[in-house]
Amino acid sequence: MTLAEYMGICLMHPEHGYYSTRDPLGAGGDFITAPEISQMFGELIGLSLAQSWLNQRINGPVALVELGPGRGTLMADMLRATRGVPGFHDSVQVHLVEASAHLRQVQEATLKGHVVTWHDSVESLPDLPLLVVANEFFDALPIRQVVRKGDAWCERAVGLREGQLVIGLNEATVIPALAHRLEDTRDGDIVEFSPVAQMVAGGIGARIKARGGAALIIDYGDWRAQGDTFQAVQGHKSVDPLASPGQADLTAHVDFEALAQATPSRHSRLTTQGVFLERLGITARAQALAVSLQGDALDAHVAAHRRLTDPSEMGTLFKVMGFYPDGGYPPPGLEP
Ligand code: SAH
Repeated sequence: MTLAEYMGICLMHPEHGYYSTRDPLGAGGDFITAPEISQMFGELIGLSLAQSWLNQRINGPVALVELGPGRGTLMADMLRATRGVPGFHDSVQVHLVEASAHLRQVQEATLKGHVVTWHDSVESLPDLPLLVVANEFFDALPIRQVVRKGDAWCERAVGLREGQLVIGLNEATVIPALAHRLEDTRDGDIVEFSPVAQMVAGGIGARIKARGGAALIIDYGDWRAQGDTFQAVQGHKSVDPLASPGQADLTAHVDFEALAQATPSRHSRLTTQGVFLERLGITARAQALAVSLQGDALDAHVAAHRRLTDPSEMGTLFKVMGFYPDGGYPPPGLEP
């Protein structure tokens, strides 16, 4: 099977999939994400999206959408922070795209008191202006990997040899969609691409172009994927992606160029998470929160601020790209 099929089954098999069987972010989980590090992350993202809503003077109902909401923490922080934006809560409907039945239950508990609609995929989102956030969602979408051979590509595939999962190469084929990668690769180089990620980006981008709104996509990755970034994490440690299918988190770096090419809407420049959060005022927010904290709580708060923004932590590894309609402004934090 292709790497994409393997990744899809390992993560989302209804019975044995990694996300179907656990809350990877909970106590004793495998990894931690920005909204779980500090409430400031979701607050600032909520306010950025609300400001796009104000800037575009969107009238009538609007869908506040999160792709892959994990524990629901980011959405809860966004909703709390935007309570004071006049008229916003009267207009927004909350829509969550989540494939894991287990995590839907966690989200329901976190978002108690709010009316929430769940979706299996972006296709069933309502035909409304969309305010979308996706944090560490695209990195979980299945990727394909190909190895260059002349002007063609051999796909890396997972197979079985003597009872062990191994990676092998399929026969070389020409892939027209990768023509631009013949310019910056040589024989033997690995290129990754994600048809699913491009479909999702194209789907939300088309609605934003047609109906208005904005999307904020936050993930680790870069402009154009280079080499093998397929990785597995279990218990905060890197492990062999073939060793324990369904037991480890599988991810790949996000190729933001591919998302930019897939959306028919406008897209902002790729901006580092540190710069994005600083522009949205994280330092002022951190200082305001610090006033009521002391001792260990204050130390943890200072460390969380640093973790989200410092170049040696998540500040530059994570990038942000925004989608917005023709004639609109890039979402706040992503100005050129
Ligand atoms: N955004 C959250 C969680 C990131 S983990 C946070 O920042 O904490 C990835 C999330 O995406 C999980 O909720 C997982 O169940 C969901 N997910 C992964 N692949 C998906 C898919 N193909 N369709 C829908 N949801 C998916």
